[in-house]
Amino acid sequence: MRVTMATEAAPGRPDNEDQVFHYANVVGVLDGVSATDGLDSGCMHGPAWYTRQLVVRLKDTIDKAPTDSLSNLLGTAIEQVMRDHPDCDLSNPSTPAATVCMVRENGPELEYLILCDSSLIVDRGTSRMRMTDKRFERAITRIRQEALAGDVAIDSEEHAARLRVAAERKRLLTNTPEGYWIAAATPVAAEQAITGRLPLTGPRAVRRAALLSDGASCAVDTFDLYSLAGLLNLLTEDGPEELIRQVRQAENADGDGYARPRYKRHDDATVALCLFEETR
Ligand SMILES: [Zn+2]
Repeated sequence: MRVTMATEAAPGRPDNEDQVFHYANVVGVLDGVSATDGLDSGCMHGPAWYTRQLVVRLKDTIDKAPTDSLSNLLGTAIEQVMRDHPDCDLSNPSTPAATVCMVRENGPELEYLILCDSSLIVDRGTSRMRMTDKRFERAITRIRQEALAGDVAIDSEEHAARLRVAAERKRLLTNTPEGYWIAAATPVAAEQAITGRLPLTGPRAVRRAALLSDGASCAVDTFDLYSLAGLLNLLTEDGPEELIRQVRQAENADGDGYARPRYKRHDDATVALCLFEETR
């Protein structure tokens, strides 16, 4: 497996709340949920710390239990990060959280795990597919539509007020069976992740797999810049940095968010591309 990756903070933001890693035979992309102004999270560390720490603990866990399932690895890492901030109020519904997308090359198979709205795009020769955790979208569609009607500018007072309302409603759905699951301070969320395995040999073998945070996958939904094949080709030929550059261009072209309504002008963007030998 050959891996190339890139991650970049949203322009103008001091911290990158995304993380990307390639460790042993595991590749992961994580996206920390941004804190909402005016909403207490009960945590003195913040989302960038949480996502970074979750990667530290994932790597520890991969070292200690390399054959554990991806869900178990994630569950253990979530539990350990809970112990890393004992003085914070982990029962606060706005406690730091991160989406997770991971793949592991395991002999003839590619195992995957997806939690929340990160995406995995795979190329199996004659077809491409995109996988994400649809429970998130289902849970927040209504909230999103009401918050992002495309009638107010990003950076306006009204936009910020709608964001706060959306965040308050969203946090009631976090890590609940009626809502959606995400890595936060609920280890059982890892058992709820979308998991599966795909062949790395034979006619339907995975040739390429791209892991993306929503700040990068917006290239194929919000901004509609590429087909899945087009996106994979761009990543293969020009690299993950080029995709991020093109996303920044699209974000700048619609700076107020009227044409492409969204929560923020720019988002942290992260991509990992895994290439597999064709002659396996
Ligand atoms: Zn904390």
